[in-house]
Amino acid sequence: MSQTEVKTRPPLVPLGTLLGRELRNDGVEKPGIKYGQAAMAKKGEDYFLIELNCERILENASMPFSVFAIFDGHNGISAAIYTKENLLNNILSAIPQGTSREEWLQALPQALVAGFVKTDIEFQQKGETSGTTVTFVVIDGLTVTVASVGDSRCILDAKGGVVVLTVDHRLEENVEERERVTASGGEVGRLNVFGGNEVGPLRCWPGGLCLSRSIGDTDVGEFIVPVPHVKQVKLPNVGGRLIIASDGIWDALSSDRAAQACRGLPAELSAKLVVKEALRSRGLKDDTTCLVVDILSYDHPVLPPVVRKKQSPITSFILGKKSQSATKKGANNLLAVGVVEELFEEGSAMLAERLNKDSCLDPNSGLARCAICQVDQPLIDYQSDNSEPILSSAAKPLEGPILCPICLKKKEAMEGKQSTRQTRTA
Ligand SMILES: [Zn+2]
Repeated sequence: MSQTEVKTRPPLVPLGTLLGRELRNDGVEKPGIKYGQAAMAKKGEDYFLIELNCERILENASMPFSVFAIFDGHNGISAAIYTKENLLNNILSAIPQGTSREEWLQALPQALVAGFVKTDIEFQQKGETSGTTVTFVVIDGLTVTVASVGDSRCILDAKGGVVVLTVDHRLEENVEERERVTASGGEVGRLNVFGGNEVGPLRCWPGGLCLSRSIGDTDVGEFIVPVPHVKQVKLPNVGGRLIIASDGIWDALSSDRAAQACRGLPAELSAKLVVKEALRSRGLKDDTTCLVVDILSYDHPVLPPVVRKKQSPITSFILGKKSQSATKKGANNLLAVGVVEELFEEGSAMLAERLNKDSCLDPNSGLARCAICQVDQPLIDYQSDNSEPILSSAAKPLEGPILCPICLKKKEAMEGKQSTRQTRTA
């Protein structure tokens, strides 16, 4: 359905015919979405966001995409509410306008990082101390992009089996994150009670949080970072089901069990069933929120039954990392056999590895744009690896993303190079 193909057709083909062909060809790319939501509140700190048909302006058209997100707050609700209200706009403001759809999707992973960090900086400037996990899912046709901090989770149930699209940023579960926190100046350990007995899950100090990444949490160590793990996949043309839920679900159910609890049933009923299944096995111990999203192509309006195989679900998928410039032919071959194609995955907490290093200096105005907050600033560039502001020159290539003084300070603090805040000690 390339434009070249359309342009080379004889000129007298009626417009309606051409449009019909485009629609049929686009069937794989423009699937429908059906969703359901269910929740049981214990503390009332879970929030969710559903935005269908978000509009974005591409180079010659506007095209819709959808967003589903869960925010599981702790120590209060203000971070969860603030993030729900501001994160989407902060992400979108970091994507260049007037791009092609493919360029938009390629820019999305970096924009998610910038949006998460910007939202965290803005919330912390309010001086409130609550925090929140975020699991943020952008659906564009059959391309699903998931960004997450904390221990809410998004799984994909598609032909072949179940794949977890997020990483749990729980100190207890994540060795890499324990090492990162320790290297950035934090301490990881359990609570000490009578007689020196250690109880409960691993926490990091100062602050005592069980999570290693979140938005908010102004009063814990700066090594609790808002940099999300991001994974982008393309579903097979038969579509697939996403289950996005807070830890109230995942503490009770494995990913496989959640998927099995509702497989083959409508999304709305499925969300209720997953919550019910979690409560049945564990009772209401925590806020429990679940979104079930079915992504259906026009050619396959109903999700096909999932064939259970003996081998590990992961090996039944082809999830080899492919470069974004993978040939269309190769991608189509993968789709044809019904597997999930991985387009992008990155989880590093280091901003230098996650943000665009290309200089955004405008030689006419002498302004440079901060890679996080997108604010244009004068020609002085605050080099990421250099805490002293230096005069920028076109002759000197930049070694990291351009950051404004506020965002640079945040970056340094996250890496344990300086502190910007008072932290609680217990
Ligand atoms: Zn900035």
